Amino acid sequence: GGVMAAGSTRGWESGRGLGSGGLVLLGLVPGAPRCPHGPALLFVKTNQGREEGRRFYACSACRDRKDCNFFQWEDEKVSETRLAAREEYNRNHQPSFTHRQNVERYKDFVLLPFSKRRFCQECQQLLLPAEWEEHSAHQFLCDISTAQLKSPSQLLNPLENKKTNAQYLFADRSCQFLLDLIIDLGFRRVLSVGAPRLHEMIQSKASQEDFRIRSLLLDIDFRYSQFYTEDEFCHYNMFNHYFFGGEAARETCRKFLYQDNVERVIMVTDPPFGGLVEALASSFKKLMAMWKETEKGGHNNQEMPMFWIFPYFFESRILEFFPSFSMMDYQVDYDNHALYKHGKTGRRQSPVRIFTNLTPSMIVLPVEEGYRFCAICQRYVSSGNQHCEICNSCTSKDGRRWKHCVLCKKCVKPSWFHCNSCNCCALQNHTCEKTDAGCFVCGKAGHKRSTCPSLSRT
Ligand code: SAH
Ligand code: ZN
Ligand code: ZN
Ligand code: ZN
Ligand code: ZN
Repeated sequence: GGVMAAGSTRGWESGRGLGSGGLVLLGLVPGAPRCPHGPALLFVKTNQGREEGRRFYACSACRDRKDCNFFQWEDEKVSETRLAAREEYNRNHQPSFTHRQNVERYKDFVLLPFSKRRFCQECQQLLLPAEWEEHSAHQFLCDISTAQLKSPSQLLNPLENKKTNAQYLFADRSCQFLLDLIIDLGFRRVLSVGAPRLHEMIQSKASQEDFRIRSLLLDIDFRYSQFYTEDEFCHYNMFNHYFFGGEAARETCRKFLYQDNVERVIMVTDPPFGGLVEALASSFKKLMAMWKETEKGGHNNQEMPMFWIFPYFFESRILEFFPSFSMMDYQVDYDNHALYKHGKTGRRQSPVRIFTNLTPSMIVLPVEEGYRFCAICQRYVSSGNQHCEICNSCTSKDGRRWKHCVLCKKCVKPSWFHCNSCNCCALQNHTCEKTDAGCFVCGKAGHKRSTCPSLSRT
């Protein structure tokens, strides 16, 4: 989940505020300096697609300098004193309780009578009676029930920092759909990466009898360590594949990914949408490699099955890194997403889709919500998505019926018309070529994401 509003959601790549050029990620390099969020990533400023100026390291997780102001030029000499100070700073910027301590605290907490179970809303923390005093000036919730402890995503405030970590929680309907799909496909283990609500749904079901599915949550939101043991949650940064809990946490993940014939694993991830697709892809490849290594003899060249939940306009970026993936028409809905367009049915139209390396025909979408099976495409498509005879595929990306443009030789959005001066289709009231801000998708100047040439590559 992540930020969606057009205009307010410049990713790293478009580098708003850094002049008209872009900011390009060069990646995670060996020996990179560290901030409290693990190894920093290497970036460079670009102008018209060319590298310009000195390369520098910045925090992988926080795009807002207010959250982490780590910065270092690539060729900068850092003195021993500064290195020592930085290490000290990194240590001091870890959470006040360790995961282990939080697990112990939880054990004590559940032994308390309901009348003594408090949750501090300001500190976002379960309180033990001895701590009440310290938090006496804070707002708190009392009589915390077992049900509340089992749905931490409802108890915790969704993080709302638009740039760094906006948490968008699945609507119940979408979460239930995902879980049913996972079960119907025969999976018994789910690696939930940045998907706390899916994890929580699985966890609470797992405590019922006859429900044999397990989940491991990997997320950067450490507040979840108050509710889950080290076998259920790892504090993890998906932009640099960093396990805050070190080798022990990595081992937990590795063990979880070990599958035998009955315990098939799938990874489900719903990352923040603000760009950095290559950083995500590189971490996901490392998780896939971890899965592959777990079984001697390998998986006959298979990939770890995966659902990557992301907006449809990132399709070409994702396929660039994962050519075996395809995009499903299912619209993933969220509870706290203010930024949907309203569709003609009155229902919110979400731009968020499921990308998967599973065979599309196996992903059965709910007929009662209007999805139907296209026998030619061999996949389920949304009701408005018409099979185009010329493209020989169901071409709509956003659920509306698209139309074929003979000049562009492809299907385009219903609201577009062919513009002879731009030599492509665009909105009727567009301004021909130009816009100085970089494109949200590819970071290049000259067009907006809606007309990004990289989107039409597929
Ligand atoms: N729809 C999901 C939540 C998606 S919101 C659900 O309902 O379960 C994005 C999630 O990614 C949040 O849980 C957030 O804490 C997590 N996240 C954000 N940045 C991250 C990072 N750098 N590494 C790991 N997780 C991150
Ligand atoms: Zn408090
Ligand atoms: Zn079709
Ligand atoms: Zn067509
Ligand atoms: Zn034009």
